[in-house]
Amino acid sequence: MTKNSQFAFKTETKQLLDLMVNAVYSKKEIFLRELISNASDALDKLRFQSLTDDKLRPLAEDLHIRLTPDKENEALTISDNGIGMNKEDLIDFLGTIAKSGTKEFLKAIKSSQEDKSQFIGQFGLGFYSSFMVAKKVEVLTKKAGEEQAYLWTSEGGDSFSIEEAEKETNGTDIKLYLKSEPESKDEDDADSAETWIDFTDEYEIKSIVRRYSDFVAYPIKMKTTRTYPKTDEEGKVIKDTEPETVVDDETLNSMKAIWLKKESEVTDEEYKEFYRHISSDWMEPLKWFRFNVEGLTGSFSALLFLPKHQGLMAYMPDAPGGIQLYVKRVFIMEDCKELIPDYLNFVKGVVDSADMSLNISREILQEDRHIQVIRKTLTRKVLDTLYEMLTKENDLYNEFYKSFSRNLKIGITRDYENQEKLLRLGLFNTTKSVDEPTNLDSYIERMPEEQKEIYYLSGDSIETLKSSPHIEKAKEKGYEVLLLTDSFDEVWTTYVTNYKNHPMVSLAKTEIETGSEEDKKKREEEIKEKSAEMKDLLTALQENLKDSVREVKVSGKMLSSLACLNLSAHETSPRMEALMKAAGQKVEPTKRSLELNPEHPLMNNLLELYKKNPEDPRIKDFSNLIYAQAVLAEGGTLSNPSEVNKIVTDLMEKAIGE
Ligand code: ADP
Repeated sequence: MTKNSQFAFKTETKQLLDLMVNAVYSKKEIFLRELISNASDALDKLRFQSLTDDKLRPLAEDLHIRLTPDKENEALTISDNGIGMNKEDLIDFLGTIAKSGTKEFLKAIKSSQEDKSQFIGQFGLGFYSSFMVAKKVEVLTKKAGEEQAYLWTSEGGDSFSIEEAEKETNGTDIKLYLKSEPESKDEDDADSAETWIDFTDEYEIKSIVRRYSDFVAYPIKMKTTRTYPKTDEEGKVIKDTEPETVVDDETLNSMKAIWLKKESEVTDEEYKEFYRHISSDWMEPLKWFRFNVEGLTGSFSALLFLPKHQGLMAYMPDAPGGIQLYVKRVFIMEDCKELIPDYLNFVKGVVDSADMSLNISREILQEDRHIQVIRKTLTRKVLDTLYEMLTKENDLYNEFYKSFSRNLKIGITRDYENQEKLLRLGLFNTTKSVDEPTNLDSYIERMPEEQKEIYYLSGDSIETLKSSPHIEKAKEKGYEVLLLTDSFDEVWTTYVTNYKNHPMVSLAKTEIETGSEEDKKKREEEIKEKSAEMKDLLTALQENLKDSVREVKVSGKMLSSLACLNLSAHETSPRMEALMKAAGQKVEPTKRSLELNPEHPLMNNLLELYKKNPEDPRIKDFSNLIYAQAVLAEGGTLSNPSEVNKIVTDLMEKAIGE
């Protein structure tokens, strides 16, 4: 008995279907690309499962895709003998939106005021794109290894139906009942911009397959007809006879791996199609490059793509994509994580190795020597290509950097071997280059001769950093300072000691030495004297601030500011502490040293006040204010804002009252 059940589409699917049914889009033929791509995935799945499931092994032979146009009934069927679907699969996969890219598409369409049809081509819309050309779709399918076949039917309205059906072999036949050619064409109608294509026409089908699916790894077959004039045994044409019709079973695609074709034979369009095929990205790639390596340790070819944006990876670290591994042109696995370090997980593409065993398993990949060599080479090639972009295609590189700077910074902390290569890819705002970020090599070129170190300061905003007491001396000397405002800058900088033999130094931890050795000595003397002169005052201030700072001392670090908070070389900065806290770690706040500028007029006044009466209650208030000022100067937040407010208000009241 045949059971027929009716199901409603989920809201999102319904929205997408409406869009497809009413689509005004000039490249409706992409539906074929999408269905062929699904068929190719279904064949991959069967082949892969047959490796571990003996029952399926006999089914994984002669895997192919077949197109069957039916002119009479205005229909086109796309068949595969792949994994197939059972009833649950049909409900799960063809009732909801599986493709995450499609959700992005819906979002983009909803927020756009512009012509919505332009979006259609940018996204891989999967199965539902068939409703651009079909008024009714039937999916007849049988899952490999199961007995029961099912027929899924929908006319693109609110619902679909599933009934039990007969099908001899495993796999899926998708039959599209095509929309007919519009009868009249209204010149003013936007629809008339579309040229109607007859998708049962052999020539049309062939050219669409060649354009979009030539590299698909399975044969895409179609029965094609040719007519010959009748000939006799000697091959001479027999006059006045009806021509003979021959039916060929033609393979429409070359199946030639795009990365093995000569570079001159592959067009940009083909690369873009291939990228679309292997990635979950709905945008074009930013850049692609390929290379062959032939060496003693192994030979391989690679075709790699850099995406334009983080895309799904931003919120789905395991989004499909990554690098596919082939061995001697045979597809081995999707997203082979061992081929590229984590921090470069945005790179997509294909690696085809000539030396590995075909039945390499995921478990032993990590130890495989070839894989390690490939990984090293890919890493180097990606970093070198990025550097080339930075130097030669600056705009393109900036676009890349906007999306992927965090990946490179993570690399700095994890890939010591390539640290220098990663550092040279960094773009930074500096005291001299705020509008257009600079890289470290240009920074070094601009360094005055006597400057040996690369200085940086990190904080929440460029504005606070630019007016920070920590950079006063550097400014005076004409030394450029990198202004680091990304919170992760706190992290990677702790992993770097130098770049190209120039120590990288945080101005929150160091004092810039200016002048000659003699000057330096003289200044040290002065500081010593001042420290001695202010000893009791400093002790009193420290006593007042003992909960907040490690020590209070005078220093020659500042020129015009009164105070700043300093860390010693290995201490953790407050921003770093905040990051660690956010990551759920317990952190004891580091107490920093409060450094005072002895040349500041206020210091002398404070000293006078203290000398007159060490018990003066104002000393306590002033120490709180000095500390608050130092915290605010670096863009920090006060732990006791109301107390500080009260002190300031009282002071103002008194000042006005005097
Ligand atoms: P996507 O292919 O990106 O997942 P689709 O909407 O095109 O999105 O397809 C949804 C799902 O339906 C696929 O993930 C797959 O599981 C299933 N599917 C589609 N076509 C086939 C097919 N020819 N054979 C087996 N399963 C299929």
